[in-house]
Amino acid sequence: MIVLAGMKLQEIEELMLKLGASKFRANQIHNWVYTKSISKIDEMSNLSKDFREKLSEIAVITDTNIKVKQVSKDGTIKYLIEYPDGECVETVLMRFDNRANLTACVSSQVGCAVNCSFCATGKGGFKRNLTYKEIVEQVLAIQRDTGLKVTNIVFMGQGEPLLNLDNVLKAIDIFNEDFQIGARRITISTSGIIPGIDELASLELQSTLAISLHAPSHDLRKMLMPIENKYSLPDLKKSLKNYIDKTGRRITIEYILIHGFNDSSEVAKELAVFLKDLKCNINLIPYNSVIENDYKKPSQADIMKFKYLLEHSGKKVTVRLERGADIDAACGQLRGKANSI
Ligand code: SAH
Ligand code: SF4
Repeated sequence: MIVLAGMKLQEIEELMLKLGASKFRANQIHNWVYTKSISKIDEMSNLSKDFREKLSEIAVITDTNIKVKQVSKDGTIKYLIEYPDGECVETVLMRFDNRANLTACVSSQVGCAVNCSFCATGKGGFKRNLTYKEIVEQVLAIQRDTGLKVTNIVFMGQGEPLLNLDNVLKAIDIFNEDFQIGARRITISTSGIIPGIDELASLELQSTLAISLHAPSHDLRKMLMPIENKYSLPDLKKSLKNYIDKTGRRITIEYILIHGFNDSSEVAKELAVFLKDLKCNINLIPYNSVIENDYKKPSQADIMKFKYLLEHSGKKVTVRLERGADIDAACGQLRGKANSI
Protein backbone atom coordinates (compact mmCIF):
# COMPACT_ATOMS: atom_id res chain seq x y z
CA MET A 1 0.00 0.00 0.00
CA ILE A 2 1.20 3.49 -0.80
CA VAL A 3 1.19 5.85 2.21
CA LEU A 4 0.21 9.39 1.18
CA ALA A 5 1.36 11.05 4.42
CA GLY A 6 4.93 12.23 3.94
CA MET A 7 4.71 12.36 0.12
CA LYS A 8 5.80 15.58 -1.55
CA LEU A 9 3.48 17.27 -4.04
CA GLN A 10 5.66 16.12 -6.92
CA GLU A 11 5.44 12.50 -5.81
CA ILE A 12 1.65 12.73 -5.61
CA GLU A 13 1.69 14.24 -9.11
CA GLU A 14 3.68 11.27 -10.38
CA LEU A 15 1.18 8.94 -8.74
CA MET A 16 -1.71 10.76 -10.43
CA LEU A 17 0.03 10.43 -13.76
CA LYS A 18 0.26 6.66 -13.28
CA LEU A 19 -3.44 6.56 -12.45
CA GLY A 20 -4.27 8.61 -15.53
CA ALA A 21 -5.62 11.49 -13.43
CA SER A 22 -4.84 15.18 -13.85
CA LYS A 23 -2.13 17.09 -12.01
CA PHE A 24 -4.78 19.17 -10.32
CA ARG A 25 -5.95 16.08 -8.40
CA ALA A 26 -2.51 16.00 -6.78
CA ASN A 27 -3.03 19.50 -5.39
CA GLN A 28 -6.37 18.50 -3.97
CA ILE A 29 -4.99 15.36 -2.34
CA HIS A 30 -1.98 17.26 -0.97
CA ASN A 31 -4.36 19.76 0.59
CA TRP A 32 -6.45 17.01 2.19
CA VAL A 33 -3.37 15.35 3.66
CA TYR A 34 -1.40 18.38 4.94
CA THR A 35 -3.91 21.19 5.46
CA LYS A 36 -7.24 19.56 6.17
CA SER A 37 -5.49 16.58 7.77
CA ILE A 38 -8.15 13.96 7.18
CA SER A 39 -7.72 10.27 8.02
CA LYS A 40 -9.50 8.48 5.18
CA ILE A 41 -9.38 8.77 1.41
CA ASP A 42 -13.16 8.53 1.40
CA GLU A 43 -13.31 11.94 3.12
CA MET A 44 -11.77 13.64 0.04
CA SER A 45 -15.16 15.05 -0.91
CA ASN A 46 -14.03 17.00 -3.98
CA LEU A 47 -12.90 13.78 -5.71
CA SER A 48 -15.43 11.54 -7.43
CA LYS A 49 -16.58 8.43 -5.60
CA ASP A 50 -15.10 6.24 -8.36
CA PHE A 51 -11.73 7.91 -8.10
CA ARG A 52 -11.72 7.65 -4.30
CA GLU A 53 -12.42 3.94 -4.59
CA LYS A 54 -9.68 3.49 -7.17
CA LEU A 55 -7.20 5.36 -5.00
CA SER A 56 -8.22 3.42 -1.89
CA GLU A 57 -7.30 0.17 -3.61
CA ILE A 58 -3.64 1.17 -3.79
CA ALA A 59 -3.14 3.84 -1.11
CA VAL A 60 -3.92 4.84 2.45
CA ILE A 61 -3.38 8.19 4.14
CA THR A 62 -1.50 6.70 7.07
CA ASP A 63 -0.33 3.34 8.37
CA THR A 64 0.30 4.49 11.94
CA ASN A 65 -1.98 4.47 14.90
CA ILE A 66 -2.39 6.57 18.05
CA LYS A 67 -2.02 3.90 20.69
CA VAL A 68 -2.45 6.11 23.75
CA LYS A 69 -3.46 9.74 24.17
CA GLN A 70 -3.18 11.65 27.44
CA VAL A 71 -4.26 15.19 28.19
CA SER A 72 -2.56 17.16 30.96
CA LYS A 73 -4.37 19.63 33.16
CA ASP A 74 -2.27 22.39 31.52
CA GLY A 75 -3.61 21.40 28.07
CA THR A 76 -0.49 19.57 26.90
CA ILE A 77 -1.32 16.39 24.99
CA LYS A 78 0.96 13.37 24.81
CA TYR A 79 0.53 10.74 22.11
CA LEU A 80 2.05 7.30 21.91
CA ILE A 81 2.31 6.65 18.18
CA GLU A 82 2.65 3.12 16.88
CA TYR A 83 4.35 2.32 13.57
CA PRO A 84 3.55 -0.76 11.45
CA ASP A 85 6.49 -2.74 12.91
CA GLY A 86 5.06 -2.31 16.41
CA GLU A 87 7.68 0.23 17.58
CA CYS A 88 6.31 3.30 19.35
CA VAL A 89 7.44 6.86 20.07
CA GLU A 90 5.96 9.70 22.02
CA THR A 91 5.00 13.07 20.58
CA VAL A 92 3.85 16.04 22.64
CA LEU A 93 1.63 18.95 21.66
CA MET A 94 2.10 22.09 23.73
CA ARG A 95 -0.11 25.16 23.78
CA PHE A 96 0.79 28.29 25.62
CA ASP A 97 -2.12 30.46 26.76
CA ASN A 98 -0.42 33.71 25.90
CA ARG A 99 0.64 32.68 22.40
CA ALA A 100 -1.15 31.55 19.26
CA ASN A 101 1.49 28.91 18.67
CA LEU A 102 0.88 25.20 18.68
CA THR A 103 4.19 23.46 19.17
CA ALA A 104 4.81 19.80 18.39
CA CYS A 105 7.69 18.16 20.21
CA VAL A 106 8.69 15.31 17.88
CA SER A 107 10.88 12.24 18.29
CA SER A 108 13.63 11.41 15.83
CA GLN A 109 14.58 7.91 16.97
CA VAL A 110 13.04 4.97 18.82
CA GLY A 111 15.08 5.21 22.04
CA CYS A 112 18.46 6.93 22.21
CA ALA A 113 22.04 5.68 22.36
CA VAL A 114 23.50 8.80 24.01
CA ASN A 115 22.37 7.68 27.46
CA CYS A 116 22.44 10.91 29.47
CA SER A 117 22.08 10.13 33.16
CA PHE A 118 19.03 12.36 33.71
CA CYS A 119 16.88 11.23 30.77
CA ALA A 120 14.20 8.51 30.67
CA THR A 121 14.61 7.97 26.91
CA GLY A 122 18.30 7.17 27.32
CA LYS A 123 17.51 4.56 29.98
CA GLY A 124 15.66 2.41 27.47
CA GLY A 125 18.62 2.19 25.06
CA PHE A 126 18.50 2.64 21.29
CA LYS A 127 16.14 0.73 19.02
CA ARG A 128 16.22 2.31 15.57
CA ASN A 129 16.13 5.50 13.55
CA LEU A 130 12.80 6.89 12.39
CA THR A 131 12.34 7.46 8.67
CA TYR A 132 11.48 10.99 7.56
CA LYS A 133 7.94 9.84 6.89
CA GLU A 134 7.65 8.52 10.43
CA ILE A 135 8.82 11.88 11.79
CA VAL A 136 6.37 13.83 9.63
CA GLU A 137 3.61 11.42 10.56
CA GLN A 138 3.81 12.49 14.22
CA VAL A 139 2.75 16.02 13.28
CA LEU A 140 0.02 14.78 10.95
CA ALA A 141 -1.31 12.52 13.71
CA ILE A 142 -1.63 15.57 15.98
CA GLN A 143 -3.36 17.59 13.26
CA ARG A 144 -5.79 14.78 12.45
CA ASP A 145 -6.61 14.24 16.08
CA THR A 146 -7.08 17.89 17.06
CA GLY A 147 -8.23 19.39 13.77
CA LEU A 148 -5.66 22.16 14.39
CA LYS A 149 -2.59 23.27 12.42
CA VAL A 150 0.75 22.88 14.13
CA THR A 151 2.78 26.11 13.86
CA ASN A 152 6.11 25.21 15.47
CA ILE A 153 8.23 22.07 15.66
CA VAL A 154 10.89 21.20 18.22
CA PHE A 155 13.05 18.10 17.82
CA MET A 156 13.08 17.57 21.58
CA GLY A 157 11.26 14.27 21.88
CA GLN A 158 12.96 10.91 22.00
CA GLY A 159 16.27 10.40 20.26
CA GLU A 160 19.27 12.39 19.10
CA PRO A 161 18.31 14.20 15.87
CA LEU A 162 21.89 14.69 14.71
CA LEU A 163 22.47 10.93 14.77
CA ASN A 164 19.63 10.58 12.26
CA LEU A 165 20.39 13.70 10.30
CA ASP A 166 19.39 12.63 6.79
CA ASN A 167 15.86 11.78 7.88
CA VAL A 168 15.62 14.88 10.08
CA LEU A 169 16.65 17.11 7.16
CA LYS A 170 14.14 15.48 4.81
CA ALA A 171 11.43 15.89 7.45
CA ILE A 172 12.36 19.58 7.84
CA ASP A 173 12.10 20.03 4.08
CA ILE A 174 8.54 18.61 4.20
CA PHE A 175 7.66 20.78 7.21
CA ASN A 176 8.85 23.82 5.22
CA GLU A 177 7.34 23.08 1.84
CA ASP A 178 4.34 20.89 2.49
CA PHE A 179 3.20 22.11 5.91
CA GLN A 180 4.36 25.68 5.21
CA ILE A 181 6.11 25.86 8.59
CA GLY A 182 9.04 28.27 8.20
CA ALA A 183 12.57 27.14 9.04
CA ARG A 184 12.73 29.62 11.90
CA ARG A 185 9.77 27.96 13.55
CA ILE A 186 11.71 24.71 13.76
CA THR A 187 14.25 23.92 16.49
CA ILE A 188 16.70 21.03 16.54
CA SER A 189 18.03 20.11 19.96
CA THR A 190 21.25 18.12 20.22
CA SER A 191 23.46 16.72 22.92
CA GLY A 192 26.40 18.08 20.92
CA ILE A 193 27.15 15.75 17.99
CA ILE A 194 29.96 17.72 16.36
CA PRO A 195 29.91 16.18 12.84
CA GLY A 196 26.16 16.88 12.69
CA ILE A 197 26.60 20.50 13.80
CA ASP A 198 29.33 20.94 11.17
CA GLU A 199 27.01 19.58 8.51
CA LEU A 200 24.20 21.94 9.54
CA ALA A 201 26.73 24.79 9.36
CA SER A 202 27.76 23.85 5.83
CA LEU A 203 24.09 23.69 4.78
CA GLU A 204 23.50 27.12 6.36
CA LEU A 205 20.26 25.80 7.79
CA GLN A 206 18.02 28.60 9.09
CA SER A 207 16.30 26.57 11.79
CA THR A 208 17.23 27.18 15.42
CA LEU A 209 19.94 25.01 16.89
CA ALA A 210 19.64 24.23 20.60
CA ILE A 211 22.58 22.68 22.43
CA SER A 212 22.08 20.60 25.55
CA LEU A 213 25.09 21.89 27.45
CA HIS A 214 24.12 21.23 31.08
CA ALA A 215 27.62 21.91 32.50
CA PRO A 216 30.43 24.40 31.76
CA SER A 217 33.35 22.06 32.48
CA HIS A 218 34.52 18.71 31.13
CA ASP A 219 34.54 16.96 34.52
CA LEU A 220 31.04 18.00 35.48
CA ARG A 221 29.56 17.42 32.03
CA LYS A 222 30.92 13.92 31.61
CA MET A 223 29.14 12.86 34.81
CA LEU A 224 25.84 13.72 33.15
CA MET A 225 26.54 13.04 29.50
CA PRO A 226 28.85 10.22 28.32
CA ILE A 227 28.96 11.99 24.92
CA GLU A 228 31.34 14.51 26.55
CA ASN A 229 34.05 11.81 26.34
CA LYS A 230 33.67 11.70 22.57
CA TYR A 231 32.85 15.33 21.74
CA SER A 232 34.32 17.44 24.52
CA LEU A 233 33.47 21.06 25.37
CA PRO A 234 36.45 22.85 23.74
CA ASP A 235 35.81 21.06 20.42
CA LEU A 236 32.07 21.62 20.76
CA LYS A 237 32.65 25.31 21.26
CA LYS A 238 34.78 25.54 18.12
CA SER A 239 32.10 23.80 16.13
CA LEU A 240 29.40 26.11 17.54
CA LYS A 241 31.40 29.21 16.66
CA ASN A 242 31.79 27.94 13.12
CA TYR A 243 28.03 27.24 12.98
CA ILE A 244 27.23 30.78 14.15
CA ASP A 245 29.68 32.28 11.63
CA LYS A 246 28.32 30.26 8.73
CA THR A 247 24.60 30.63 9.44
CA GLY A 248 24.56 34.04 11.12
CA ARG A 249 22.08 32.56 13.59
CA ARG A 250 22.02 32.86 17.36
CA ILE A 251 21.97 29.47 19.05
CA THR A 252 20.08 28.39 22.16
CA ILE A 253 21.94 26.88 25.08
CA GLU A 254 19.84 24.45 27.10
CA TYR A 255 20.91 23.96 30.68
CA ILE A 256 19.21 21.53 33.06
CA LEU A 257 19.36 22.73 36.65
CA ILE A 258 19.94 19.89 39.09
CA HIS A 259 19.90 20.69 42.79
CA GLY A 260 23.34 20.55 44.42
CA PHE A 261 25.00 19.37 41.20
CA ASN A 262 25.27 22.15 38.62
CA ASP A 263 23.23 24.98 40.15
CA SER A 264 25.70 26.80 42.43
CA SER A 265 26.78 30.45 42.03
CA GLU A 266 30.31 29.27 41.14
CA VAL A 267 29.01 27.10 38.32
CA ALA A 268 26.80 29.97 37.08
CA LYS A 269 29.85 32.21 36.86
CA GLU A 270 31.86 29.49 35.13
CA LEU A 271 29.02 29.04 32.64
CA ALA A 272 28.92 32.78 31.98
CA VAL A 273 32.64 32.72 31.16
CA PHE A 274 32.25 29.71 28.88
CA LEU A 275 29.41 31.36 26.95
CA LYS A 276 30.89 34.87 26.88
CA ASP A 277 32.03 34.79 23.26
CA LEU A 278 29.14 32.72 21.88
CA LYS A 279 26.14 34.38 20.25
CA CYS A 280 23.42 32.62 22.24
CA ASN A 281 20.31 32.76 24.37
CA ILE A 282 20.13 30.56 27.43
CA ASN A 283 17.18 28.38 28.36
CA LEU A 284 17.29 26.99 31.89
CA ILE A 285 15.37 23.74 32.38
CA PRO A 286 14.62 22.85 36.00
CA TYR A 287 15.20 19.11 36.23
CA ASN A 288 12.08 16.97 35.75
CA SER A 289 11.94 13.89 37.86
CA VAL A 290 12.69 10.53 36.30
CA ILE A 291 12.40 7.53 38.63
CA GLU A 292 15.79 5.94 37.87
CA ASN A 293 18.00 8.56 39.53
CA ASP A 294 18.35 10.64 42.66
CA TYR A 295 18.54 14.08 41.08
CA LYS A 296 16.31 16.84 42.38
CA LYS A 297 14.93 20.10 41.05
CA PRO A 298 16.44 23.23 42.66
CA SER A 299 14.26 25.57 44.70
CA GLN A 300 12.66 28.52 42.92
CA ALA A 301 15.02 30.84 44.78
CA ASP A 302 18.08 28.93 43.53
CA ILE A 303 16.74 28.94 39.97
CA MET A 304 16.24 32.73 40.11
CA LYS A 305 19.69 33.30 41.57
CA PHE A 306 21.32 31.23 38.83
CA LYS A 307 19.31 33.14 36.22
CA TYR A 308 20.29 36.48 37.72
CA LEU A 309 24.01 35.64 37.69
CA LEU A 310 23.86 34.59 34.06
CA GLU A 311 21.87 37.64 33.04
CA HIS A 312 24.62 39.72 34.52
CA SER A 313 26.83 38.42 31.75
CA GLY A 314 24.59 40.20 29.25
CA LYS A 315 22.79 37.16 27.85
CA LYS A 316 19.08 36.68 27.48
CA VAL A 317 18.05 33.95 29.92
CA THR A 318 14.66 32.24 30.12
CA VAL A 319 13.39 29.49 32.39
CA ARG A 320 11.53 26.78 30.50
CA LEU A 321 7.92 26.40 31.56
CA GLU A 322 7.22 22.90 32.73
CA ARG A 323 4.54 21.35 30.54
CA GLY A 324 2.62 18.13 31.03
CA ALA A 325 4.53 16.83 34.06
CA ASP A 326 1.35 15.17 35.39
CA ILE A 327 1.31 12.88 32.33
CA ASP A 328 5.12 12.41 32.14
CA ALA A 329 5.27 14.59 29.04
CA ALA A 330 7.87 17.08 30.30
CA CYS A 331 11.46 17.20 28.98
CA GLY A 332 13.30 13.98 29.57
CA GLN A 333 10.27 12.01 30.71
CA LEU A 334 9.43 10.35 27.39
CA ARG A 335 9.87 6.61 27.30
CA GLY A 336 7.82 5.55 24.32
CA LYS A 337 6.16 2.63 26.05
CA ALA A 338 2.51 2.15 26.88
CA ASN A 339 3.31 0.52 30.21
CA SER A 340 5.16 3.59 31.45
CA ILE A 341 1.98 5.64 31.57
N1 SAH B 1 18.46 14.36 22.28
C1 SAH B 1 18.31 15.74 22.16
C2 SAH B 1 16.86 16.19 22.11
C3 SAH B 1 15.88 15.54 23.07
S1 SAH B 1 15.94 15.97 24.72
C4 SAH B 1 19.04 16.47 23.27
O1 SAH B 1 19.46 15.82 24.20
O2 SAH B 1 19.21 17.68 23.15
C5 SAH B 1 15.32 17.64 24.86
C6 SAH B 1 15.85 18.38 26.09
O3 SAH B 1 15.36 17.81 27.32
C7 SAH B 1 17.37 18.31 26.17
O4 SAH B 1 17.93 19.56 26.49
C8 SAH B 1 17.55 17.34 27.31
O5 SAH B 1 18.81 17.46 27.89
C9 SAH B 1 16.41 17.71 28.23
N2 SAH B 1 16.14 16.71 29.27
C10 SAH B 1 16.37 15.38 29.23
N3 SAH B 1 16.03 14.81 30.42
C11 SAH B 1 15.56 15.80 31.20
C12 SAH B 1 15.03 15.84 32.55
N4 SAH B 1 14.91 14.75 33.26
N5 SAH B 1 14.66 17.05 33.03
C13 SAH B 1 14.74 18.17 32.27
N6 SAH B 1 15.21 18.19 31.02
C14 SAH B 1 15.63 17.02 30.48
FE1 SF4 C 1 19.28 11.06 24.20
FE2 SF4 C 1 18.72 13.68 24.47
FE3 SF4 C 1 17.89 11.86 26.32
FE4 SF4 C 1 20.48 12.48 26.12
S1 SF4 C 1 18.81 13.88 26.71
S2 SF4 C 1 19.63 10.40 26.32
S3 SF4 C 1 20.70 12.77 23.92
S4 SF4 C 1 17.24 11.98 24.20
